[in-house]
Amino acid sequence: SITIGVLALQGAFREHIAHLNRLPGVQSVEVRTKEQLADLDGLVIPGGESTTMANIAQRWGLIPELKSFAELGRPIWGTCAGLIFLADRASGQKEGGQALLGGLDCKVHRNFFGAQINSFETELPVPKALKAFESGPQGFRAMFIRAPAVLEAGPSVEVLSEYRLTAGEQSVSDGLKKVAVAVRSKNLLATAFHPELTEDCRWHKAFVDMAS
Ligand code: GLN
Repeated sequence: SITIGVLALQGAFREHIAHLNRLPGVQSVEVRTKEQLADLDGLVIPGGESTTMANIAQRWGLIPELKSFAELGRPIWGTCAGLIFLADRASGQKEGGQALLGGLDCKVHRNFFGAQINSFETELPVPKALKAFESGPQGFRAMFIRAPAVLEAGPSVEVLSEYRLTAGEQSVSDGLKKVAVAVRSKNLLATAFHPELTEDCRWHKAFVDMAS
């Protein structure tokens, strides 16, 4: 069977565990120490608050271990705050910002869609590139909670899902028409939305496929 760890420092880790446990042949474990990283087939970095998560990871001495996990080509999936964590560059944050793991040749903008009250749910077309979406509905529910967006992606990055900005959103985003909200690059998967908060398990299946 496949063992997927979920970084359990802060944020929505329990919901990821519950989703992973619904998939056949998958075991999931909460990860808090570097020793626990050793035997994993893949790691999920959940949503939450990326500065807080980074601070805890730093205090517990996890940053170098997480970096080498990514650099060794081991699969990591970041959702929301986890996406920010994996990005090489982040904007929309305070001077200095937080420690980023990096690895994903992307520029993300934190809280791109605004504050908590601008959180929203929408339907997006399924990414055709992922086998896990070959069956089931042709759309998936995407929940954005103080979500980041990917504003620039390098050539090594495959855009899996895009979000078209409304006229109002365009007017406060320098006329930008769309942003990437799900990307993949080698061993890294990142989504700006929260699949662990919807019933659909296909994003989790897609990550398990990457880790298998
Ligand atoms: N806005 C949060 C941050 O910048 C991310 C929100 C989330 O993970 N739901 O860290």
